[in-house]
This record gives sequence, C-alpha cells and structure tokens, in this order.
Amino acid sequence: MEPYYRSNNDDYRALFGGKVAKISLDGGFTCPNRDGTIATGGCIFCSAAGSGDFAASRSLSIAEQIRQGKAQSAKKWNPVGYIAYFQAFTNTYAPVDVLRKRYEEALAQEDVVGLSIATRPDCLGEDVLALLEELNQRTALWVELGLQSANDDTAKRIHRGYKTAVFDEAVAALAKRNIRTVVHVILGLPGESKADMLATIQHINRLPVHGIKLQLLHILKGTALETLWKRGEVTAMEQETYINMLCLLLAHLRKDIVIHRLTGDAPRDLLCAPLWSLDKKRVRNALHQKLRNEHIFQGMALDDATMSK
Ligand code: SF4
Repeated sequence: MEPYYRSNNDDYRALFGGKVAKISLDGGFTCPNRDGTIATGGCIFCSAAGSGDFAASRSLSIAEQIRQGKAQSAKKWNPVGYIAYFQAFTNTYAPVDVLRKRYEEALAQEDVVGLSIATRPDCLGEDVLALLEELNQRTALWVELGLQSANDDTAKRIHRGYKTAVFDEAVAALAKRNIRTVVHVILGLPGESKADMLATIQHINRLPVHGIKLQLLHILKGTALETLWKRGEVTAMEQETYINMLCLLLAHLRKDIVIHRLTGDAPRDLLCAPLWSLDKKRVRNALHQKLRNEHIFQGMALDDATMSK
C-alpha cells in the first residue's frame, strides 16, 4: 500500500485481487497527427514508434505480442492476470470493425483481464464510443487520453493538433458511459512554467477523470524536440526540479484520481536527455523520501470545496 498517493497497483489489487501486469501492444494503427489528416509531423516529442517504444513488433499478431509479453513478465512477477495495453500511435483510429477485431483478439487470450486503450480525444466518434461502452460492460477497460497540458498555447507549441475543449468533451463522453479515463500529462514542456503545470492539474481536478500518468518530458532521438534541444531552444528538467514539481502537483491532485505513472520510461538507445531519468529506481526513491520527510500526500493542498468533481 502506497501511503502518499493512490497508486494503480493498489487499484488493480482491489479490482483483481493481486498483481496485474500490463503488456504493451502495437495494434498496427497510425495517427491523424502523422498521416496528414491533421498534420504529418506528429507531436514534437513523439518517437518513430508512436510513443509505443516498449510495445512488441507490429508485424506480430496481437496473440503473439501477448504471448511474448507474458514471457517477459514471468521473469519478474507472477501476476494474477494481464491488461492488454494498446499503446503505440492512436488506438481508436481505424474503422470500428478493425478495432473490434484487435480488441477481441486481445481479450481472447488466456488470463487477459482487461484492456487499456491509448488514444486521442478527437478519435472517439459515436461508433467507437458505442464499441467501448460494450467492451466496458464485459471487461475492465481504461481509455488513456493524451492531454499533456491544458494550456492551448502549449498545445500549439507541441503540435498536439486539438484544443483542450475537445479533451474535456471526450472525458465527459467516456464518463457518461462509465468508462474510466486516464489522462497523460507531460512535465517540462517547452515554455511551460510551474503555474502552467499546476493549472493543468487544477483543470483535470474539475473533470470526471479516473486516473493520471505524470510523465517527465523525454527528448528522444529523431523527434522535432531533439532538433529544438540541439539548438538550445529546449532544456531538459533537472531531477530535483522534477521531484519538487511532482510533489507540488500531487499535493494539488484530487484524492480519488489513481496515479498510473510518476516517472516514465524511455528506451536507453533513443534518449538524448535527461539521462538521469534512466535510473527509475533512484528517481522513485528520491520522490518517496521527499514525500515521507515533508509529509506530503495526494490532495493535501485542496480544501473540501475543490474536492468535489
Ligand atoms: S497523438 Fe500520440 S501517436 Fe499521434 S503524434 Fe501525438 S504522441 Fe504521437
């Protein structure tokens, strides 16, 4: 039990009665921010693998990707089940029959107890929502939406390709169908101040969001962000700044929101900066030490009036 914040591991244990492992998948999709529908360059931080660098090869079937993911997990844990995590690119960006086929293939695998689907809020048409609603009635479902920042100026700077109001509408549409939403937020985006990051958390607090991933900005090889970083127009966060920021944001985050990520992974061979983030254990220990020493816990800065959704 994590005493300082509500962790996804605790949430999974309550739901499934034990440790559950997530298997990252590449469903073979693309993204409207890359294929020319919205833009061709994608978000400036997005890697060639569509931010799915730990997913198995898209040339493999979903069943085979899950088989390999289970073999990897078995080296570390003995989970009671697996969540099939459609991670790479935009995982609701295809005709609904194609989506159904991919999701059903994942759910048909032994010990798969749920689905987590990462997507953009502008790729949730009525037919997709209907499919998600149906799936949500027979399995544990999370829909992960990339917000990164609630600031529309930042959104333009990072070439996100939709306004924050679109995100808000998507969260409402999912909540209406009782589907859990996990929001992705990146700390240290170009031009963002401490006040901007705090404003993003305050924005999320007002929405029916179930979980959050707080992720450090990674500067990856081959991205537009790398070019800006090489020109000195973007800098990577220092570890101390990141830990301080995490503590501040946790203190201001609604208590019921489940924390799915506090550090984030970057493939060693792709990461330009910050290199300190490769040592996840050290970062986590430093965070926990600060939380413990300074008696910081999730939601402590909120008064009763702001705790309501
Ligand atoms: S929406 Fe996701 S997949 Fe598409 S460019 Fe942005 S980060 Fe990459």
